[in-house]
This record gives sequence, structure tokens and C-alpha cells, in this order.
Amino acid sequence: MADRIPLMAGNWKMNLNHVEATGVVQKLAWTLSDKRYDKAKAEAAVIVPFTDLRTVQTLVEGDKLPIAYGAQDVSVHASGAYTGEVSADMLAKLKCAYVVVGHSERREYHGESDEIVNDKAKVVLAAGMTPIICVGEKLEIRKEGRQVPFVLDQVQKVLADLTPEQVAKLVIAYEPVWAIGTGEVATPEDAQEVCGAIRRYIAEELQGADAAAGCRIQYGGSVKSSNIVDIMAQADVDGALVGGASLDPEEFAKIVLFY
Ligand code: PEP
Repeated sequence: MADRIPLMAGNWKMNLNHVEATGVVQKLAWTLSDKRYDKAKAEAAVIVPFTDLRTVQTLVEGDKLPIAYGAQDVSVHASGAYTGEVSADMLAKLKCAYVVVGHSERREYHGESDEIVNDKAKVVLAAGMTPIICVGEKLEIRKEGRQVPFVLDQVQKVLADLTPEQVAKLVIAYEPVWAIGTGEVATPEDAQEVCGAIRRYIAEELQGADAAAGCRIQYGGSVKSSNIVDIMAQADVDGALVGGASLDPEEFAKIVLFY
């Protein structure tokens, strides 16, 4: 797996207020440090609601705790009359390392298209942070066996106009929509089929071999400590985007410590 360090990112979604966040982050850090956490083997990150970011920053800043953090969304706009939106510069000022863009829940409930996701990835990169760009097919596409061409079309659109250097640094999360929050997990072979196809496509058709070798491709969809080892054994899977299981710090620590 080249020298890509797997990224285990816990997407809290709209859970845990800033008081609850303190307890979860401390427990996660304590559990990781109590065990054999090695940042060279896996990077732990929490992707938290906007209202938790300052609290999490205060807990981890200056490398006090070995956990990265980030946001779940960003505005495409730099500033101005966009009530309710949060800009990339605001997130960078809070020292976010990561910003998730194009999560299937944003696509489903907020009508985000691949073009909007592409714009969001660009503003995140321009502000010096790393986008975690989500792609993935719905159940009907999977039933028709069209998951690979469908996801590659998404990848082509969400990576449009990005340079090889930018793509080498970003994270793509392959999340089959039918596996998110459902308890239905893709088999490790299903995950590898699509993650491998994404990497080959970037190498052969998009930003080239160096970009493909550098970018990390996560799997997401009902990941738990009981299935992470087999998923991580796949050649093109460089980590996981974890929803429900990341709310339990002991369970999430086991996922981070999959190795
Ligand atoms: C997610 O929110 O990105 C996700 C994969 O959720 P879950 O792990 O709960 O399926």
C-alpha cells in the first residue's frame, strides 16, 4: 500500500454537543494512548459538528492529544450574505485538518451535485485543508451492477480541474449509500472493487500515477471493529469513514487500532 498512512475518520454527524464532545475526545485519546496507538500506522480523526470545533481544538491543540479533527461541510462562498454558512477560511482558522464534502446525506437532503462538491473541494484545498470527498452509489445502481461506472463518473466530476499535486494529497471516501447507517456492510471484495477502480481511473484517465499513488481512498458504510480488519486488508483501501461506531470512543479506538 505505497506509504499511505490509513486515515480513520469518525463522522459524528449531528450528534454530541460541545460538552459531550469533550468527554468523547478525552476517552478516545485515553483509550488510544493506553493501548499501542502508532500514528505511523493509522491516523485518528474526528469530524464534528461546527459547534464542537472550538472545544475539540482546545483539547488537542499543540499535539496535546494525538487526534486530528475536521468539519462535516463548508460553504463554497468566501464570505458575505450567506446566512447559516461557514467558510473555508473560518474552518482553517480553527485549524481543521479535514473537511468532508459531498457526504451522501448532504447530496440527499441538501441537493448537492457533483459540481457543488467539486467547488467545495477546491475551497477546502485553497484554504490549506484536506477535503474528504465522498462518492458512492445507491442501491438501485448496485442492483444493476453499475457501481463502478457510476462512481467513476462521480470521481471525474468531483476531481475536475484539480492538479495532480492536489489530488495526491486529498482523501476520497467510497461510501455505498445502501451501506450507510443500515448495518449492511459491503464485502471487503466489494470495497476493493470500487476503491481499486477509482485509483486506476485517476492513474490512467485523470491526474496520473503519482496522484493516484498518493491519494488515500477510504471505505465507509457500517464499519465496526468486527469488520475493519478484513476491509483494511484490501490493497486499495486506505482507511475508513465511520459514522455510528465513532460515537462510542472505545469502539472507535478499536477501529483505529485495526493493525
Ligand atoms: C458515514 O456517516 O459516513 C457512515 C459511513 O455511517 P455509518 O458508519 O454509520 O454507516
